[in-house]
Amino acid sequence: MNPDFDIAVIGGGPAGTTAAAILAADGRKVAIFEHRVFPRQKVCGEFVSIGARPVLRQLGVLAKFDAVAGPEIRRMAALPQNGRILECTLPADAHGCHARALCRARFDNLLMQNAKSSGVTVFQPAHVDRIEPVATGGFSIFSRQCGEISAGKVIMADGKANSSLALPAVDKIKTAASGHELLNTSYLGYKAHFRDCDMPDDLTVIAGGPEIYAGLLRTSDLCHDTNEQIAGNRGKAEAPTYNMAFAVRQLQAAEHSGPDDLLAYLFKFNPGLKRIMRRARRESAWFACGPMRPGVRRLYANGLFYAGNAAGEVHALVGEGMTLALRSGRLLAGEFMAGMAAGKGDAEIAKNYQSAWRTEFTGRLDAGNLFSNLLMRPMAGNIAADAFNCFPELLHAAVRFSGKAASRQAG
Ligand SMILES: Cc1cc2nc3c(=O)[nH]c(=O)nc-3n(C[C@H](O)[C@H](O)[C@H](O)COP(=O)(O)OP(=O)(O)OC[C@H]3O[C@@H](n4cnc5c(N)ncnc54)[C@H](O)[C@@H]3O)c2cc1C
Repeated sequence: MNPDFDIAVIGGGPAGTTAAAILAADGRKVAIFEHRVFPRQKVCGEFVSIGARPVLRQLGVLAKFDAVAGPEIRRMAALPQNGRILECTLPADAHGCHARALCRARFDNLLMQNAKSSGVTVFQPAHVDRIEPVATGGFSIFSRQCGEISAGKVIMADGKANSSLALPAVDKIKTAASGHELLNTSYLGYKAHFRDCDMPDDLTVIAGGPEIYAGLLRTSDLCHDTNEQIAGNRGKAEAPTYNMAFAVRQLQAAEHSGPDDLLAYLFKFNPGLKRIMRRARRESAWFACGPMRPGVRRLYANGLFYAGNAAGEVHALVGEGMTLALRSGRLLAGEFMAGMAAGKGDAEIAKNYQSAWRTEFTGRLDAGNLFSNLLMRPMAGNIAADAFNCFPELLHAAVRFSGKAASRQAG
């Protein structure tokens, strides 16, 4: 018996919606299961790097994105905790366009609407509880809202470090880290929107303190939680909106009473950021997420394919997570299409995907680790500041290495 869908995608974030839309446009019967109702806010720095633009163009949503995103971001200022400032220009893409920011409520909704109009069936809200292999091939997906639905292939794009929906019990035990290990190696993420930050529109600021780093930038001006609010505010002259997101090691977070307290702690070590935000007013609630554990995860296991954060998570600091999600969703869809057209089995498709994924993304994950360590440690920050001041090209090289250069983003 034919499965209900050729491909089921678990998670409707940037990775899932990208893979699903491309596969549906190729004539495949695709379903997305997404457990939240959109539009919804999400913890994120909202920086959409130039590497995302070719994917947004391929999906046919680039013009819509540009129409609602914030101003072009052409410069980056890194503020390590020693009070110094390292500034560099950010490269443009081949079309002369720069990175921009868009609030996640709108970005994810834009991608989800596009998936629907590409022919994807969207189950939402639909929380997937369990995935089981079927003896005759394919998988059964169990969701408390939709019951059992079958699919030939499954893409895990649920954004989770420890996606264990389909792992046998023994693997779940192996992947579970101990409580202390988790606290030591994991981060919590927070974000809120602010008004009245004293910084230019074309700048993104990244700032560090002990075991904590933050990103601040001018984002899109209509950043509300529901479509009604977005529509209601259209055309209203408002002060610019700034997005502040920070990641803090769990052990450090445990010593503070909440995000406002953590921000005050960061200000103590980072006078530059405190100056920029001295008049700032928070205009949204804080949103929180975690624990996050940057690093490579699994790309293929137990017959399931992984994309986006579920496959590998880059440090939030470098602002490349959404780009990685979009690009890995596109990469996986491409490998599926080529493999299915050539009659290849899943194992062979997985081998090609794993090798292409490592070539494209491993360097960015390493760069994210390096940057975050430099920013969070006082000695490392000092050494880096001296090195970057003596050899400014080093900073540009580091930015290029993290994925922000046109040469790494072609296509
Ligand atoms: C503090 C912080 C700052 C960041 N700043 C930036 C930045 O400036 N720029 C940038 O590019 N990236 C940034 N990121 C990273 C970025 O947010 C992620 O990399 C990106 O969201 C990953 O996309 P994804 O599609 O893989 O997963 P997600 O966006 O997490 O989407 C996964 C989806 O799956 C759904 N889901 C989960 N479980 C289930 C289930 N069982 N059933 C059904 N649905 C499910 C979720 O509801 C969610 O919608 C930041 C992250 C943090 C924490």
